[in-house]
Amino acid sequence: MPSASAGLTIVKNATCTFCGCVCDDIELHADGEKIVETKAACSLGQAWFKNHTAAHDYPDALIDGQPATVDEAIEVAADYLHRADMPLVYGLSNITCEAQRESVHLAELIGGVIDSHTSL
Ligand code: SF4
Repeated sequence: MPSASAGLTIVKNATCTFCGCVCDDIELHADGEKIVETKAACSLGQAWFKNHTAAHDYPDALIDGQPATVDEAIEVAADYLHRADMPLVYGLSNITCEAQRESVHLAELIGGVIDSHTSL
């Protein structure tokens, strides 16, 4: 349950989903625009919380570095995956459980392999 102090919203026991450890004892202080302080998060978690905002700073998708619509990007990605000999579905951090489930399903459909960034 968030509380307020000196104009800040304070959330106790927040969960960090950045690296996969899923630390759930993080305290966050937000000023209405962004998170300004984290307590108990490691340096990766601090950077993740403090550098994400609700601002829409980037295009929805890129194709060869150029802004594109999601539909265009899906078409291009499907073509890459269809032509690949051993497609790799990789990443999966910072996405929802539902998206992870769909990613596993996609890997099965295309006969690919799946890995997360935690293998780094
Ligand atoms: S990035 Fe740090 S705070 Fe976040 S889940 Fe991983 S270890 Fe925990």
